[in-house]
Amino acid sequence: MADIDAALREIVRLRAAGLCEYCRISERFTLAEHEIDHVIAVKHGGQTIAENLALCCAVCNRFKGSDIASIDPETGQLTPLFNPRVDHWDDHYQFAKWRNPGSDREGPRHSLASADESLRESQRAATSAALRPQQGCR
Ligand SMILES: [Zn+2]
Repeated sequence: MADIDAALREIVRLRAAGLCEYCRISERFTLAEHEIDHVIAVKHGGQTIAENLALCCAVCNRFKGSDIASIDPETGQLTPLFNPRVDHWDDHYQFAKWRNPGSDREGPRHSLASADESLRESQRAATSAALRPQQGCR
């Protein structure tokens, strides 16, 4: 892992306003402090400069790792991963409606609370999926 000095970390953290730049969960709602991600990993020639760094929650960072592309499950095509320095989040993602567990009522739309709850649900599902053993692995 490349050394990232404190001043550069602060630039990245302030630019992201404390939100993971991939899933947009606030650092206030995670157990672990958000990490600094190299959008293009050092091993792929990425530099340790603000233009190549993103604030990233631990869950997103574990999933992304040093990857820069993946196979799209719908098309089977090699597809670049979301790049928060180039791509626009709203072009690729949307917040799902939040439904209060055990209630038939929908929660408020477009509120920070609903977004954060939706993201926490996504993170719980992603964490659960990540911890599940892969089929065929022994
Ligand atoms: Zn995230």
